Amino acid sequence: MATISIALSGFACTPQSSSTHQAASTPQASPRLEGVPKVVATNTILCDLTKQIAAATVNLTCLVKPGADPHIYQATPEDRKAIEQANLVLYGGYNFEPTLIKLIQASSNSAPKVAVNELAVPKPQQFEEDGQTETDPHVWHNAQNGVRIAEVIRDNLANIAPNNATLYADNAKKVTGEISQIDSWIKTQINSIPQASRTLVTTHDALGYYSQAYNIPVAALEGISTEEKPTAAKVKELVGEIQKKKVPTIYAELSINPQVIQTVANEANVKVAEEEIYADGLGEAGSRGETYQKMLIANTKAIVEGLRGQFTPFQAK
Ligand SMILES: [Zn+2]
Repeated sequence: MATISIALSGFACTPQSSSTHQAASTPQASPRLEGVPKVVATNTILCDLTKQIAAATVNLTCLVKPGADPHIYQATPEDRKAIEQANLVLYGGYNFEPTLIKLIQASSNSAPKVAVNELAVPKPQQFEEDGQTETDPHVWHNAQNGVRIAEVIRDNLANIAPNNATLYADNAKKVTGEISQIDSWIKTQINSIPQASRTLVTTHDALGYYSQAYNIPVAALEGISTEEKPTAAKVKELVGEIQKKKVPTIYAELSINPQVIQTVANEANVKVAEEEIYADGLGEAGSRGETYQKMLIANTKAIVEGLRGQFTPFQAK
C-alpha cells in the first residue's frame, strides 16, 4: 500500500513540478538579448571581431575561452547545445579547432556554418611536416588576412540579419581601416630590428604568416599544432640555432606551459621575454591582447623590444 501511495502522490505532483522546472530553466535557455539571432564563434579572434562588427544586434556565444588551446580543446555538452541552437556558426577551419569542427560538421542544425578563415584566405600557407603536406591555420597573424576575416564576418552577419547590413558595413569599415593601419605600422616596426638579431623563436610554429608578411624568420620548438611534444633532439637543434644566430630573446606563448621554452633558454643562455606571445588567440578582457587589434600590437611590441628594434607605439590616424 505504501508504494502505491508514493507512486500516486508522485504522479499527482507531476504537472506542477514540470511547470516549475520549465520556469526555472527558462532564464538559462533564453538568450541574453530577446529576439536577436544567436551566433556562435569557436575561437577568441572570431569572437572579438564579431563583437566589434555586430555590436548588440546578436546574441553571441564564444566557445574556446581566452588562454585555452584550440588545437587540443575538448568540446563540452554546452558547446554542442550552443551549436545546435545557433542561427549562424563561425569557425576558423583548416583544422585549427579539430574537436569543434567535427561537432559543427556533424550537427543537424541547418543554420549556416562558416569556415571563416578558409573563406578569408583561400590560398593558405602550406609546408611539409613528417612527409605530409600540412596547412597552417594561423592565418590571422598577417593583418591583411585579418581584414578579410572581418569582411567575411560582416557578410555572414548581413545574411542572417539583412536589416542591420548598413550597421555591419559601417562597423566593419572602421575595424578594417584600423587593422590596415596596424599592418603598415608592423612593417616599419619589424624593419627597425637589426638583421643580426631578426629571428623570432617561439614555442610552437604559429607565426608563419607573421613571418612572411613582416619579413622576420621564425623558428619554433613544436610544430604547427601543439599536440606533439618536442623531443630532446628538437630541443638541442633549436638551442644550436639560437646560439648560431645570436638570438637575444625567445618567446613563451599564452596558452602553452612555458617550462620547455624556459629549458631551451637556459641551455642557449638567452632570456625568455616577459611578455608572452598571443599565438593561438586573444587574452582576457583587460589584458594587453584583449582585442584582435591590441593582440597584433602587443605581439609586435614584445618582438621589437626583445630583438633590439626601435619600438614606436601605434597611433591610429
Ligand atoms: Zn597554434
